[in-house]
Amino acid sequence: MAYNIRTIGVVGAGQMGNGIAHVAALSGYKVVLSDIETSILDRAVATISKNMERQVAKGRLTSEEKEAALGQIATTTHLSAHREADLVVEAAMEKFEIKAEIFRQLDEECPPTTILASNTSSISITRLAAGTARPDRFIGMHFMNPVPIMKLVEMIRGLETSDEVYDAVRGVAESMGKTPVPCNDYPGFVSNRVLMPMINEAIFAVFEGVATPEAVDQIMKLGMNHPMGPLTLADFIGLDTCLYIMRVLYEGLGDPKYRPCPLLVKMVDAGKLGRKSGAGFYDYSGA
Ligand code: NAD
Repeated sequence: MAYNIRTIGVVGAGQMGNGIAHVAALSGYKVVLSDIETSILDRAVATISKNMERQVAKGRLTSEEKEAALGQIATTTHLSAHREADLVVEAAMEKFEIKAEIFRQLDEECPPTTILASNTSSISITRLAAGTARPDRFIGMHFMNPVPIMKLVEMIRGLETSDEVYDAVRGVAESMGKTPVPCNDYPGFVSNRVLMPMINEAIFAVFEGVATPEAVDQIMKLGMNHPMGPLTLADFIGLDTCLYIMRVLYEGLGDPKYRPCPLLVKMVDAGKLGRKSGAGFYDYSGA
């Protein structure tokens, strides 16, 4: 069937969810953004407004376009509101049980034609899809952080994702000015299969006293021309998300080379999750 996607649902209004809502609204879609608490949604809309204001200041957007886009975003704490959407992109936290329960409810509430997508960094699309009655209308749509800036969308086909659904969602990514790149469904897909072991190894270097976080980051920036050191990047992604992805790689690929560094585990246990919690390898309390 031909899909006509006009309304996009976004589940989870954290750093990724608000970025996806931002870009979708600016690309002319109606957006329904949901989370578990109104205060989180209020914060997300304030962040979107602030980020759009930056685009206005740079001359990339007019104030009218900003206001029009903000007016396209409706917020809700009810998953049932996504029954209005033609495509729902889930961007809740990186935990299988949480995502599986969200998709169980979405599958129940949404018409059978609604396409369900996950922005998961590592969880099996095939496994999430299998918990719904529409594995053919289920896909991985992996945006990069920060969504308004990063061009890539890693498009992950589950075992049963149909060609029509792949084409429709690829079209949505392109209409958002993104470059969709296809990939099959294996742990960590491509982006995190390659990136996370590097971040984990950088944490091992700190753990083993090879170098300070500052030195590790400086070496990778100056020596490898990375725009951001791996520990700064880990703080930016969220150390809880990094740990969860390492566990998915470790369990899914069964190779000890993917074991998470004990220092990463300890920092997450301590609630040091990086930028979003105010501290990680670096301090963000003043940010
Ligand atoms: P985050 O912690 O900033 O946001 C997660 C949001 O999900 C929170 O606002 C939380 O309240 C909400 N949430 C939790 N349970 C929910 C539920 N049952 N219903 C609705 N909302 C719920 O996390 P994030 O960094 O935005 O990551 C979200 C997803 O995007 C994860 O799957 C992550 O792996 C993926 N991702 C993250 C990055 C990154 O760099 N952070 C990049 C690409 C993909």
